[in-house]
Amino acid sequence: MPNTTLENSPNAVLNKSVAERYMHLPCPENKVKATYIWIDGTGENVRAKTRTVDFVPKKPEELPVWNYDGSSTYQAEGTNSDTYLCPVAIYNDPFNGGNHKLVMCDTYKYNKKPTETNHRHTCLQAMEAAKDTKPWFGIEQEYTLLDMDMRPLGWPKNGFPGPQGPYYCGVGANKVYARDIVESHYSACLYAGINIAGTNAEVMPAQWEYQVGPCEGISIGDELWVSRYILHRVAEDFGVIVTFDPKPIEGDWNGAGAHTNFSTKAMREDGGIIEIEKAIDKLSRNHLRHIQAYDPKGGKDNERRLTGRHETSSIHDFSAGVANRGASIRIPRGCAEDKKGYLEDRRPSSNCDPYAVCEALVRTCILDE
Ligand SMILES: [Mg+2]
Repeated sequence: MPNTTLENSPNAVLNKSVAERYMHLPCPENKVKATYIWIDGTGENVRAKTRTVDFVPKKPEELPVWNYDGSSTYQAEGTNSDTYLCPVAIYNDPFNGGNHKLVMCDTYKYNKKPTETNHRHTCLQAMEAAKDTKPWFGIEQEYTLLDMDMRPLGWPKNGFPGPQGPYYCGVGANKVYARDIVESHYSACLYAGINIAGTNAEVMPAQWEYQVGPCEGISIGDELWVSRYILHRVAEDFGVIVTFDPKPIEGDWNGAGAHTNFSTKAMREDGGIIEIEKAIDKLSRNHLRHIQAYDPKGGKDNERRLTGRHETSSIHDFSAGVANRGASIRIPRGCAEDKKGYLEDRRPSSNCDPYAVCEALVRTCILDE
């Protein structure tokens, strides 16, 4: 039987066992591949390139500032294109193993000002100002796997799978597609040192989720972006495409979000429900600011997803409720019972920039801006 699913994927066709010959060659001890990762001018796609360094880096500050051609990433004019890459976090490299590293970077223009899609810069300022409240974040990253024809992986070529119902947390070859990718990504994140908390199959077939957190402060953004890079790379090995589009298929199919769980030290302590309610009150008065920060197109992407159907709230209204998956903010039942814990902001879209999302939460709920 021909492999019709992936026949147009050049990466899936390559014989991966050949690479094994080279990937296990011994590497000189003082030579480390450092793969610098950054967010491009779309605000949602990652780019990466690799260089050799002559030592094993322990902290991002030890690594050199590097640069790239920003005119090829929608971030600069060709006549003034050198854009700076500043290392901000390092992780073990699950693709090369050994001492090799993945290096998350933020980006600066020729004049040393942050690029338009560098939301880490102001997020870090907010996190520093809010440091004493110990803000924790956990993000539920949903995504969809696509075949090379940009249709969800495993869907019939001239039609649709059966209606939603059996797929969420599903088990079995007719319920879930490409668990290989999901499990490989999970292991690769653990190896890298990402604080990945779990994974599950989602409501729409070929849609999956993993969670990162809890992370304190700026690290939530660094870890989520690197986990996305790892996911793209693992899927690339299988010849499959990952999309973070919040509504990949119109109609009666669930979209994809990045539900963001948030708490402060005071919320996590006894009686913290009062603090959670205060935060929800502040969020209710800043709905628009948050919608603008919760996808890379200022709310345009989320418009397709936050319809009030398919476990979402309407983009136009703010709502909150205990155990309510149709609300903007959900208070988990357990937190309502314990009278402490965290809140879940269900509005961020799957392609959101976690730096922008978490900065908005901190500025509204903690810094009262
Ligand atoms: Mg989910």
